[in-house]
Amino acid sequence: MLLSGKEPSNSMKRDAAVLSEKFEKNFSRKPCLAVVFVGSNPASTVYVRNKKKACEETGMGHLDVDLDENISEEALIEKVKALNSDSNVDGILVQLPLPKHINVSRVLSYISAEKDVDGFSAENLGKLLTEEKGLVACTPKGILYLLDYYNIETEGKNVVVVGRSRIVGKPIAALLEQKCRNATVTLCHSSTKNLDFYLKNADIVICAVGKAHVISEDMVKKDAVVIDVGTNRVPDASKKSGYALQGDFCYSAEDGGDLKVTPVPGGVGLMTVSSLMDNTLIAACRRMGIEKEDL
Ligand code: NDP
Repeated sequence: MLLSGKEPSNSMKRDAAVLSEKFEKNFSRKPCLAVVFVGSNPASTVYVRNKKKACEETGMGHLDVDLDENISEEALIEKVKALNSDSNVDGILVQLPLPKHINVSRVLSYISAEKDVDGFSAENLGKLLTEEKGLVACTPKGILYLLDYYNIETEGKNVVVVGRSRIVGKPIAALLEQKCRNATVTLCHSSTKNLDFYLKNADIVICAVGKAHVISEDMVKKDAVVIDVGTNRVPDASKKSGYALQGDFCYSAEDGGDLKVTPVPGGVGLMTVSSLMDNTLIAACRRMGIEKEDL
């Protein structure tokens, strides 16, 4: 079975659109996401376009901050600081990757926690670990929504997360081991010995490696749930763009067979964008002193 991201992400966006309209009625303005895009990386261009489109679909505003590839780190930080103090901006998204001369962690550390809609900041990651109210990183948040949407139980399940990045692997592992999810989580990485052993015992596998088809169906249980976060560009002469998108996971049956697997594209990526809309709405409400549930 394929766990498409289309229906759950549309459901998430429909809810966001309803609340966004209520927000605008209450506060005479739309929730607003500042989208900071440095340079012209082709993959980022597509992601940025999709995020702005999602803002429009959900009735939110976006402030486009397009900056030259050669901008200095200090100048970029000044831009971020200006957005922090802009009362019309609720969320700040700095599209990654940034050019090599810029220290990404340093730039991101300047985004104020309440506008950190990507949920990458130390403060928001810390709140996730201590189970306090913060902003949860978009991809992990989207994965949880997708699991719930398809009624995939995590209680008592063995979950293997492959990849320990700050934006996907670490936060999804922490979220799934919380009492409300009660999964037993194993976090694997490039130095994990005998990855196959862990995968074979996993009810749910979350792949966030970034290497096309690095995990294959013979490595997992026959009826495993596989959440494929990997989004890898591989050369494909049959495509107009010259490349195709492939996940980290490789399976043979077009519909996934006995596996429950998220397709790439059309899976987790869609959930990430919808979660960004939800986070923007949450951030906007909190700036107005309410929770989105109070709208
Ligand atoms: P990172 O490059 O930050 O992390 C990759 C992780 O994979 C690291 O922890 C690394 O281990 C581990 N790893 C690398 N090779 C292996 C291996 N052979 N076996 C086991 N583990 C391995 O990646 P991100 O988390 O940022 O992204 C991962 C993928 O997900 C990318 O394709 C990215 O494009 C995609 N992505 C998709 C999103 C979406 O919305 N769909 C959102 C974010 C990312 P170590 O720590 O030891 O180096």
